[in-house]
Amino acid sequence: TFLGIFMILVLSCIPGRTNLCSNHSDTRSSLDSLDLEGYITFDDVHNASKDFGNRYQFPPLAILHPKTVSDISTVIRHILHLGSTSNLTVAARGHGHSLQGQALAHQGVVINMESLQNPDIKIYREKQPYVDVSGGELWINILKETLKHGLSPKSWTDYLHLTVGGTLSNAGISGQAFKHGPQINNVYQLEIVTGKGEVVTCSEKLNPELFHSVLGGLGQFGIITRARISLGPAPHMVKWIRVLYSNFSTFSRDQEHLISKKKGFDYVEGFVSINRTDLLNNWRSSFSPNDSTEASQFKSDGKTLYCLEAVKYFNKEEANSMNQETEKLLSELSYIPSTLFSSVVPYIEFLDRVHHGEIKLRAKGLWEVPHPWLNLLVPKSSIIEFATEVFNNILTSNNNGPILIYPVNQSKWNKQTSLITPSEDIFYLVAFLPSAVQNDLEHLLRQNQRVLNFCAEANMDVKQYLPHYETQREWRSHFGNRWETFAKMKHEYDPLAILAPGHRIFQKAT
Ligand code: FAD
Repeated sequence: TFLGIFMILVLSCIPGRTNLCSNHSDTRSSLDSLDLEGYITFDDVHNASKDFGNRYQFPPLAILHPKTVSDISTVIRHILHLGSTSNLTVAARGHGHSLQGQALAHQGVVINMESLQNPDIKIYREKQPYVDVSGGELWINILKETLKHGLSPKSWTDYLHLTVGGTLSNAGISGQAFKHGPQINNVYQLEIVTGKGEVVTCSEKLNPELFHSVLGGLGQFGIITRARISLGPAPHMVKWIRVLYSNFSTFSRDQEHLISKKKGFDYVEGFVSINRTDLLNNWRSSFSPNDSTEASQFKSDGKTLYCLEAVKYFNKEEANSMNQETEKLLSELSYIPSTLFSSVVPYIEFLDRVHHGEIKLRAKGLWEVPHPWLNLLVPKSSIIEFATEVFNNILTSNNNGPILIYPVNQSKWNKQTSLITPSEDIFYLVAFLPSAVQNDLEHLLRQNQRVLNFCAEANMDVKQYLPHYETQREWRSHFGNRWETFAKMKHEYDPLAILAPGHRIFQKAT
């Protein structure tokens, strides 16, 4: 019978008993025979072999499409049972928008988290409202659902077609983080399947060590199957402002001024433009100049410019007071007056802005290309030295893609999560986001390395965000004095190092 075959396979796979499961096809059939509500596939591994970074290709042996949390637990327990007779590892795959193979499991099991739709998105309108979602849910779906109730998560990423589990494993940082902290600061509770196959609920009060470790924990301690996310009132509209600076110190001083205000903008970011032609004319399709004659006389060619981007949320009936507050805030800044542009758009259109860019790039075949991205967290005390060298000497253009730069203030962030940041309260997220479209991958990678070398030589307390390293020595240095705790938690919750092998932090015990 089916159960009989299953029992024979399970018994034969107990470590030390026999070597049967070291055989590839036996491993496969042992997975195939598991009693699941979802299902496992073996032949459609192409997509799960790569990620958005498009630089690494590692096919898994199998893909689990879980229907329930217990499907995930069953597969993990099975792999534990196989012990050292199998090399199987497990990677939760959210939307696969990692950059260096973090969601891959070479010859292991990839869990397609988006098929875990259980539970549905459930909204609770308490005094402090929240939403319960699956770890495989896309943020865009959460936004659409919560908006129906006039509510919204408070902290975002720039792009919403990412999963809850994927961004909570990193941090989830965007222009709201100075005010609300990153996404990992806006979670009340998680349900986790640990590397031992146990299903554990955790929060600040319940299993707090696991809760903090999983947030920003790069998927090392467990699989996030459910998350309870804090909500706030959703505005109808946003006023979206862009202004330019030619001087970096003035630009960064104004950004820091805006994030220090209690009643200021709701979103503050910025980007660098190196030697772009006709920058302002490119904006005109979606933004209006404050003074069109002056704006048309401004030339961006050959210059390095810094764009401050700020947004004020409002409801339709508050338009007048919002405009007054915005004018007042702008009067405190020292941007180039002719470069003031603004736009008024619905809240959802603003939040989902990168998706519009994606549609255009996909149409031109420019989305699925290599993305040698580099994200750094640079302390405030080093940012001018960093900008002077990187934007004037190391980079000669940003024709390959945007470079974001904006400060956040982590004084109110939860310091117990696994996220590693510089020690100063204020630091900048600097994101180099190029697409390699014309055989320029090697050049872009060399450029990234020059930036990293410069930071190391200048002894800046710079940390990588969405970190990527090849060796455990580098990982130890990334974590610094928090390495011991990270490794201890790994030993406790994933003792065989089965989970998230794509980060190359720990090796599966054999
Ligand atoms: P995946 O790539 O599928 O997985 C990422 C990692 O998380 C893997 O190690 C995986 O094993 C693990 N993981 C996935 N799901 C789970 C789970 N349920 N439980 C445990 N571990 C899990 N980041 C920002 O902070 N701010 C931004 O503004 C931002 N913008 C972006 C824009 C674009 C276009 C792209 C491609 C990425 C952006 N990112 C941003 C980075 C993004 O947050 C991370 O790459 C994130 O991991 C992607 O989520 P994903 O669902 O695709 O995860």
